[in-house]
Amino acid sequence: MTEFSLIEKYFKPLTNGDSVARGLADDVAKISLKKNEELVVSKDMFVENVHFLAADGGFKIASKLLRTNLSDIAAAGGKPLYYSLGFAKNKNCDEKFLKDFCRGLKELQNEFGLCLIGGDTVSSKEMFFSITIFGTIKKGKILSRNQAKDGDLIFTSGTIGDAALGLRIKLGEDFNKFDKKEKNYLLERHFFPTPQINLGIKLLEKNLSNCAIDISDGLLADLRHLCEESKLAAEIYLPKIPFSSAAQKLSNPQKLDLLSGGDDYELLFAVKPRNQKKLLDLAKSLKLNLSCIGSFKKPANKKFTITLRDEENKKITIKKFGYEHF
Ligand code: ADP
Ligand code: MG
Repeated sequence: MTEFSLIEKYFKPLTNGDSVARGLADDVAKISLKKNEELVVSKDMFVENVHFLAADGGFKIASKLLRTNLSDIAAAGGKPLYYSLGFAKNKNCDEKFLKDFCRGLKELQNEFGLCLIGGDTVSSKEMFFSITIFGTIKKGKILSRNQAKDGDLIFTSGTIGDAALGLRIKLGEDFNKFDKKEKNYLLERHFFPTPQINLGIKLLEKNLSNCAIDISDGLLADLRHLCEESKLAAEIYLPKIPFSSAAQKLSNPQKLDLLSGGDDYELLFAVKPRNQKKLLDLAKSLKLNLSCIGSFKKPANKKFTITLRDEENKKITIKKFGYEHF
């Protein structure tokens, strides 16, 4: 198959005929914005044997690739619209792989209402992929990492650590604590994280937060980003961290590991105490689990530290914060 027949057969259908993509026949895509809108843009790279295994197959690889990108748009409170795809194929990207890969993208396009508008295709020894995603926000209304204030409550969506456990199961670790159903649940959470798009949009719309991050490297690492950017310290409580019924089976030290596990793609965000009630109403209407895990504090001598406490309010020493890329 030539590069151009690949684009024509597999990628062009993903444009949904949207004029922005210009039929994938031009050097650029062209995006127009409404007067009161701004673009938010994010890029992720996805490398074989680092972010995925070839054995995961095209469907799961594509799905996770686009889900993690969508999660960045969620962290800004944006509405996803378009993406462009960097596609480095190797000999394992056969027709089945391509079909599955595009099916993975298409499913999410339908769920989140976005489409492909361009990209680049190359051959490589190892396969790797990259997406640049474009979303919109109302002018000036954005969630950012530096907007937490002293006294704000720290909330997280969903449950923490499932994806990290799923990865360990995928890599062959034998958890006899978990039954088959729990293992499947944890694997699903690893392969198919849920980008919290609606939550991000609603937090802005209802003026409930203007500070958020998506948890990609680990709860502690990403909370540290909020602290450093907002120039605050944080105090959080292990018994308040939401865990799935599977993860609940673990000991405290094992749970502590999950806080630096990464790949949760939940939203971590700051909320004024007076808005707590409204936030819990929002949780109900979105049918989402939103948990308060602690609060931001003025830092002592400019140290933007995280204090983690156990059931008896004793400090737990944090040894690892999250995944380090290099
Ligand atoms: P150029 O040579 O100018 O870099 P290409 O020949 O690589 O352009 O691409 C031709 C068209 O196909 C462009 O519109 C480009 O956006 C699109 N395209 C190439 N690769 C991909 C891809 N992986 N996904 C989506 N569109 C792609
Ligand atoms: Mg060109």
